Amino acid sequence: AGLDSLGNFWRWLEEKGVKAPAVRPAAVPEGLGLVAQRDIARSEVVLEVPQRLWINPDAAAADPELGRLFSGLKPWVSVALFLITEKSRGLKSPWKPYLDILPASTDSPLFWSEEELSELQGSQLLSTIFGVQEFLRSEFLKVEEDLVLPHKYLFPSPVTMEDFVWAFGILRSRAFSRLQGENLVLIPLADLINHSPKITSEDSAWEIKGKGLFSREQVFTLRAAVPVKAGEQVCIQYDLGKSNAELALDYGFIEKTSARDSYTLTLEIASSDEFYDDKLDIAECNGLGESAYFDIYLDSTLPPMILPYLRLIALGGTDVFLLEALFRNTVWGHLELPVSRQNEELICRVVRDACKSALSAYQTTIEEDEKLRDAENLDPRLEVAVWIREGEKKVLQKIDKIFQERELELDTLEYYQERRLKDLGLVGEQGEIIFWESN
Ligand code: SAM
Repeated sequence: AGLDSLGNFWRWLEEKGVKAPAVRPAAVPEGLGLVAQRDIARSEVVLEVPQRLWINPDAAAADPELGRLFSGLKPWVSVALFLITEKSRGLKSPWKPYLDILPASTDSPLFWSEEELSELQGSQLLSTIFGVQEFLRSEFLKVEEDLVLPHKYLFPSPVTMEDFVWAFGILRSRAFSRLQGENLVLIPLADLINHSPKITSEDSAWEIKGKGLFSREQVFTLRAAVPVKAGEQVCIQYDLGKSNAELALDYGFIEKTSARDSYTLTLEIASSDEFYDDKLDIAECNGLGESAYFDIYLDSTLPPMILPYLRLIALGGTDVFLLEALFRNTVWGHLELPVSRQNEELICRVVRDACKSALSAYQTTIEEDEKLRDAENLDPRLEVAVWIREGEKKVLQKIDKIFQERELELDTLEYYQERRLKDLGLVGEQGEIIFWESN
């Protein structure tokens, strides 16, 4: 965005009654951002944007020509199409000054070239990206066939897949992530706020309220999460719950901290499993399903449900009596502890094999990534790729190590039968079998 468009944008906001007494939009290292014009106190109101400037499903539905068509769509699809059509209307769009300052892309891998994507080869993020692209393609084809082509004369210009990806990227990176579904909304000016890793509280940075007694209109209010000095940027914490892969996909940046490094293990009960129905029933009784996703973080312990679920999947041989209906209420409790040596050995082997196979797909080593990522003036997209692939490998190695250590303990673990005998008072604490004294 040139300085002209920024100036136009600011004048437009003032005309429309936006209040932002202490900040100005300005060019910053992250693109555009909000710069404090004077010292701002913590919790001070930074900006107030009235509803009539928002771009959301209601705004799309209110369009005189296309609104009728948009109303049956998924909320995000209607906002995406609305954004594309408004942009192509040029001077005829009331949002033009805002649309002109929107970036043509972000550094999300959604916008990377094939060559840039090749830096992610073998990574989980790359397969996520392929999945998202496929999803977007099918959504696009659907809306093209059902809506755009049959009403071609209503659309100002052809709508392309590229436009659709752009609009999706804009919504992912600029709509507040807690406002989803029907509440999805782009708020001009408020969406110029950048993320700072230094801010570690997400709460009450913004709110939506009625304008006052005599108006039904709502207002979006953003408050400073921390005190800001004149000349500095006002920032917020986007989302403490997002992994680096999610930050990369949504916004095109990562945080340089291992606390956001993660890998998602997908486990499933094979449909070919002889005991599929019983296992599924037990999983469902405990809030899981045929497949389950576990986000494993480098700096955290394993999610507590993963071991019982693994043991359930691996259950076989002489342990299958636990699947009997008689045990249905207590089986999860049993699965939370090692079931048998055979079962525990199997889960270790399965997980370790999966880790090794995943690790063998990457093109670089952790050491190579470490060297690269500390280089100066690294291209931002390459930086994302290197941090992601390094983080994923570290998490996979950590998982492998946990199960390797478990393998070494297999002989010392206590299994179901032993616990059972202890409960019955037949085995002492040292594992000796207790005999009744015969006299
Ligand atoms: N900077 C944006 C612009 O120029 O329009 C305004 C913020 S917008 C809500 C989110 C986008 O800003 C992200 O997708 C990313 O491109 C950029 N961004 C925000 N915080 C960032 C950060 N800490 N590091 C790098 N880029 C950041």
